Amino acid sequence: MAEPTNVLTLDGNKVSFQAGQTVLQVARDHGAPIPSLCHLDGCAATGACRVCVVEIKGARSLVASCTIPAAPGMEVWTRTEKVIQSRRLNIELLLSMGRHDCVTCEANGDCVLQSLAYEYRVETVRFARPESHYPTEAANPMIIRDFSRCVLCGRCVQACNEVQVNEAISHGFRGARSKIVTKGDQPYEQSDCVFCGECLQACPVGALVEKQAKGRGRPWEMQKVKTTCAYCGVGCQMFLHVRNGRVVKVTGDAQSEPNHGSLCVKGRFGYDFIHSPERLTKPLIRENGDFREAGWDEALDLVTRRFREIRQAHGPDSLAGLTSARATNEENYLMQKLVRAGFGANHIDHCARL
Ligand code: SF4
Ligand code: SF4
Ligand code: SF4
Repeated sequence: MAEPTNVLTLDGNKVSFQAGQTVLQVARDHGAPIPSLCHLDGCAATGACRVCVVEIKGARSLVASCTIPAAPGMEVWTRTEKVIQSRRLNIELLLSMGRHDCVTCEANGDCVLQSLAYEYRVETVRFARPESHYPTEAANPMIIRDFSRCVLCGRCVQACNEVQVNEAISHGFRGARSKIVTKGDQPYEQSDCVFCGECLQACPVGALVEKQAKGRGRPWEMQKVKTTCAYCGVGCQMFLHVRNGRVVKVTGDAQSEPNHGSLCVKGRFGYDFIHSPERLTKPLIRENGDFREAGWDEALDLVTRRFREIRQAHGPDSLAGLTSARATNEENYLMQKLVRAGFGANHIDHCARL
C-alpha cells in the first residue's frame, strides 16, 4: 500500500502533517516539546529567538523549526545533543541581552525565558551584559516598558500589527541600539497606541508590565477565575487574577472564542471600579437637594410608591427603563420584565456607559 503523502519522520517516528504546517507545528501536534520564545500563534514566523532549532537530515546546519515548512520524507530530530547545546547557547545569549535578575521582576514565575533557563540548566551567563540605552517608560497609566528586560523577540510588534492591526509599534534602530519603537519613537501615550494591551499579553518576559498590577502579587499567589467581560455585548472571555479576594489583573483567554485572548482597553484595564471605595453600597435618597443613606426597604418602598403615583397620574407610557450593557443578561431580562409587566410600558433601552 502506498504511504500517505504528507508524512515525515519525527524523532524516529512517522507522523502525518497538513500542507502548510511548519515543523514546529507538526512537532507540537505530535507532542514533541520544542520550546519557543518568539513564536506567536497565527502570526508569520520570524525565527528571532532560535530557541526552537532542530536537526534535519541533509541540512547544513540546525534550523529554526518555526520557519521551515514540513515536507514529505523529512527526517527531523528535536532533542539531539547538538540541538540541546544550541538551545542552551541561544538561551544564554538572550539572558545576556539585558537585566535578567528575576528576583524583583514582575514576570518572575510567568516568564518564558526564566522557564527555559531553568529547563535547560543555563546557570551562568558568560557574556558581558550591555548597558541598556533606554530608560524605562512609565509615563502612561497602563503599560510600563522596561527596555532593560526586552529580548527583542518581536512578539509585541506582531501582536500589535498582525493581531490587532493597530500598527503602533515596530522594530527600530540597529545593532546594540535596537529597540521596539512607536512612530517617531514617542512614548506610548503620544503615539498611535490605543492601549488594547495585546503587546502586554504577548510579551514572554518582563519587558512590558501592567502598571496597576505591578507589585500586587506573584502568579502562584493568584487564583485565575474565568469570566465574561461585562463591558459590551461581544462577550470576550477573560481571566480575573484574584489575590486575597481582590481582582489584581485581567488577561484574555487565548483558548476561547470570540476573542482568542484579545481584549480592548476597557476589558483589560478597566477593572479598578470593582474595589473602588467610591462605589455605592447603600441606597441614597435625595431630600432637600442632598442625598442621605437609607435602608433597602425604605428605598424600595419609596420608588414603588412614586412609580405608582406617576402611572396613576400620567399613564404607563410616562415610565421607562434604562438599563446597562454592563449588567448580565439575567439582570437586563428582569429589568425589561419590570418595565413591560410591572409598568405596562414598552419603553426599555440600555446605555453602554451605565
Ligand atoms: S524577564 Fe524573565 S528572565 Fe528576565 S528578569 Fe524577568 S523573570 Fe527573569
Ligand atoms: S497596547 Fe495595543 S495598540 Fe498599543 S502598542 Fe500594544 S498592541 Fe499596539
Ligand atoms: S517588549 Fe517583550 S514582546 Fe516586545 S520585543 Fe521586547 S521582549 Fe519581545
